[in-house]
Amino acid sequence: MADKTLSFMRSLCMGNIVEEIIFPFPKIQESEKELLKTTFDSIGGWLQSKETEFKKWDKAGELPKEFLEEMKQMGMFSFVIPEEFGGLGLTSSGYSRTIQELCKYDGSVAITAGAHSSIGMRGLLLFGTDSQKQKYLSKLASGEMIAAFCLTESTAGSDAAGIKTKATRDGDSWILNGEKLWITNGGIADFFTVFAKTEGLEGQMTAFIVTRDLPGVSAGPHEDKMGLRASCTTTVNFDNVRLTQEHVLGEVGKGFKVAMKILNVGRTGLGGGSIGAMKKSIHLASQHAKSRQQFGKNISEFGLIQQKLGHMVVECYVSEAVVSMVAGLSDRGCEDYAVEAAISKVFATECLWRTIDEALQVAGGGGYMSEYPYERIMRDCRINRIFEGTNDILRLFIALTAMNDVGAQLKEVAHSIGNVLQDPIKGFGVLSEYARKRVSYATGFGKATLSQSHPTVKEQAEVFEDCTKQLASFVDKMLRKYGKNIVGHQFATRRLADVMIDLFALASVLSRVTAAIEEKGVEATKREREILQVFAGQVSRRVRSNFNKIDDNDDQQITSLALDAVEYEGYRWDTI
Ligand SMILES: Cc1cc2nc3c(=O)[nH]c(=O)nc-3n(C[C@H](O)[C@H](O)[C@H](O)COP(=O)(O)OP(=O)(O)OC[C@H]3O[C@@H](n4cnc5c(N)ncnc54)[C@H](O)[C@@H]3O)c2cc1C
Repeated sequence: MADKTLSFMRSLCMGNIVEEIIFPFPKIQESEKELLKTTFDSIGGWLQSKETEFKKWDKAGELPKEFLEEMKQMGMFSFVIPEEFGGLGLTSSGYSRTIQELCKYDGSVAITAGAHSSIGMRGLLLFGTDSQKQKYLSKLASGEMIAAFCLTESTAGSDAAGIKTKATRDGDSWILNGEKLWITNGGIADFFTVFAKTEGLEGQMTAFIVTRDLPGVSAGPHEDKMGLRASCTTTVNFDNVRLTQEHVLGEVGKGFKVAMKILNVGRTGLGGGSIGAMKKSIHLASQHAKSRQQFGKNISEFGLIQQKLGHMVVECYVSEAVVSMVAGLSDRGCEDYAVEAAISKVFATECLWRTIDEALQVAGGGGYMSEYPYERIMRDCRINRIFEGTNDILRLFIALTAMNDVGAQLKEVAHSIGNVLQDPIKGFGVLSEYARKRVSYATGFGKATLSQSHPTVKEQAEVFEDCTKQLASFVDKMLRKYGKNIVGHQFATRRLADVMIDLFALASVLSRVTAAIEEKGVEATKREREILQVFAGQVSRRVRSNFNKIDDNDDQQITSLALDAVEYEGYRWDTI
């Protein structure tokens, strides 16, 4: 059993493969599987019957009140709430699988239920006091209260620490003022997790539970959006709202930590949703390819169609491995999986974007018509790469966490080397583990190994080991090249993030395929091994290419062109 405080990816960047964290591949428990099957049977039939309505509501830009009532009755707000409060008490794995199921029917419905459970009320589960839980959880489970997460403001999106909403002390109370922007469920929620700057603690943020019945709470009109149109997105306003200590969620001044933890734990919801939409896209595209005839043949017989479908399957399987792995880490009580959770969000949302793009291409002109579901899935899923942390910001977080860890170790290395010079015997004793690895990597002898993957996938396990070795050189080389200024070098940081994303995905799929072979045998897993072969090949090529680009790139020219476009406010070279 691995140390629960260890992160797989942070350890990997230090040159350690902590296999116990990712083997065996996490499984949904049998009892929970039964519960999920019953739940999916009941919601599946109901949602299937609404297919034409979903299309209508997407156009209208709203879910009708009666349907929201049905959602409550069907238990769509109860997924992650413990049974003692009337909820289903799903694990992260079970919850992620449930959002996946909803996304097969409609994105707006999935986000309405998902924003409630993933982020709206998650803070209460994670940080609420007993009395706060007693007061709200049953109402949140029944849907009597729908929840929303209120962080973003007009001047504070990615830079969440820059919010201006303020809670000012007034005796024992707090007075809350401010406006939150683009809040999912804003117009239908009664329970808001709100982040505000608190006075006295300069620049610090505190999380509050705010309910709609409090004087001064109001919501703006529905925003007209590109996708997820029927989900309710509004501003939420707080005008001199009086709060007490009972409304404080977590510790005063620790709101930023609360926000980040909620987003982190909630990521498997968005990941699950992306997989659901990928499965639906693959179903639609393969069905179309099988029946559509051109040039006297089914289009499925053409290589270019096969190439698309094959890649869609690979991306879906690997995404499912990554998201399930992260849900498993959460369920096992791992304490540090923020980097892995961020990776799962970036990976799954981008795979979905490519998958629906290719599915639409397979459908040809029909894919562009609202008569068919492709264009709606595409509009609905575009936001996934933006909300709950843009994929750009998450890439920076992924890579800079690694650089920070290694940088700290390097300081120790420098210190140890100083000691070695002053007192060779004592000095070698303190030469850090990381320094030892660096030396062995540099001399070509050392290699972290993966021993728990199945022998039949040895070749792909070796790809992972080789790439891990390259990762260590990558981090080292970047730190030597940029030092403390790495934060200002985002092109390079992105490359490191992409290598880390690929390696976690490869580790997850190695673990998944190993579990499949152990369960079903080598013969029965031919296709899964093919997926692994394809993906390992892609990872190997991408890692090598990213590594080469540390020194051989066009970053300077691209920067210069971008800055010029910004100065000119557009493209310079019109032909007339
Ligand atoms: C449909 C919808 C639902 C939403 N639901 C909610 C909700 O329920 N609750 C909530 O609080 N918010 C919600 N949001 C807001 C969402 O989380 C933000 O839009 C998101 O965090 C990005 O912020 P922004 O739009 O201000 O973009 P900005 O932060 O202005 O970013 C613009 C671009 O600049 C990039 N960028 C920013 N900083 C950097 C940097 N340092 N380095 C490199 N690139 C950078 C970004 O990646 C992005 O590409 C929702 C938004 C939408 C559209």
